[in-house]
Amino acid sequence: MVTFVPTSVAFLFGRSIVIEVQLDDAIRRIDEVVSEALRDIQAVPTTSEVEQVRVRYTGKKSPFQQVLSIMGRLSAADRKQLGAAWNAARDSIEAALKQRDASLRSGELAQRLESEQVDITLPGVPQPVGYRHPLLQCVRDLLQILEQMGYAIYEGPEVEWERYNFDLLNTPWWHPARDEQDTFWVREGVVLRTQTSPAQVRYMEAHPPPIRVAVPGFTYRNEAEDPTHADMFYQIEGLAVDVDITLADLKGTLLQVAKRYFGPDSALRFRPHYFPFTEPSAEIDIQCRVCHGVGCRSCDGEGWLELGGSGMVHPSVLEAGGYDPEAVSGFAFGLGPNRYSMMKYGIPDMRLFRENDLRFLREFN
Ligand SMILES: [Zn+2]
Repeated sequence: MVTFVPTSVAFLFGRSIVIEVQLDDAIRRIDEVVSEALRDIQAVPTTSEVEQVRVRYTGKKSPFQQVLSIMGRLSAADRKQLGAAWNAARDSIEAALKQRDASLRSGELAQRLESEQVDITLPGVPQPVGYRHPLLQCVRDLLQILEQMGYAIYEGPEVEWERYNFDLLNTPWWHPARDEQDTFWVREGVVLRTQTSPAQVRYMEAHPPPIRVAVPGFTYRNEAEDPTHADMFYQIEGLAVDVDITLADLKGTLLQVAKRYFGPDSALRFRPHYFPFTEPSAEIDIQCRVCHGVGCRSCDGEGWLELGGSGMVHPSVLEAGGYDPEAVSGFAFGLGPNRYSMMKYGIPDMRLFRENDLRFLREFN
């Protein structure tokens, strides 16, 4: 049985009144603090205030801590007694704080789940979704077809040297063909490219034969706009150079592109034409998709519609690209995605592509 030896000490209470207390008083004081703390902890309304209560009852300046200030003046047995009581009290306060915190947390979570509940049965608000411009869609479709046929994709500059746009394409300054292409001049010797063909020479300069390359991009002509002409239009250039490439390869390639883009019943015809950078040259016509060659309003009664230009690469262009025209031959063609798209979807006016009229664009959604 433990006997208590009364110990007199000066003990500072929270109210700063010096009172003589004994060990019993200190333990009683601990009990008071604990019951006070447990009552307050139960009354804490929110998790954020739990911490304040913790500081108030167990912090460095709390009355609970001050009880320990008499330790130094107690006998060893009393110190042990007070320490045990103090530890048990602290544990019960900590446990109560922890429990209160957990129960408040789950309550607050339940409340939050309740208040932030989403009614998934409400109908949604439709958001407008963007989609590809019909011209870009056509470009992608045509490039995909060419890629599947083994063509690399290459892009040349839109602001081009006169040399690449004309001279190296067998069109020297005195050549009458220059007059047919109304050119935007940036400054002397520099133009907005009138065709994607300059990239032919650029690509040949950088790649030895054999090559198969498609060059997509905008081209520029200084001409008035009308339903079938624009001063800025898209072109996809095709170029293939290898040993023994013939006109039959060109026809087969273009027919294959047309069949894959328009449908397997596509028919093409080649009309002799003149381009300075190909020899022989041909305009490609496609049989009208509406009347199948009989003649209708879509094709002005012709039964055929012009699709683009093509031909066998002129020997001097091969030479300009650093190739030996005695050793290799090649063909080139220009596809006009505007025209392909107009024909496939029955678009009557080329200017619609650039007017950004959503009513028109949505038709291709
Ligand atoms: Zn027709």
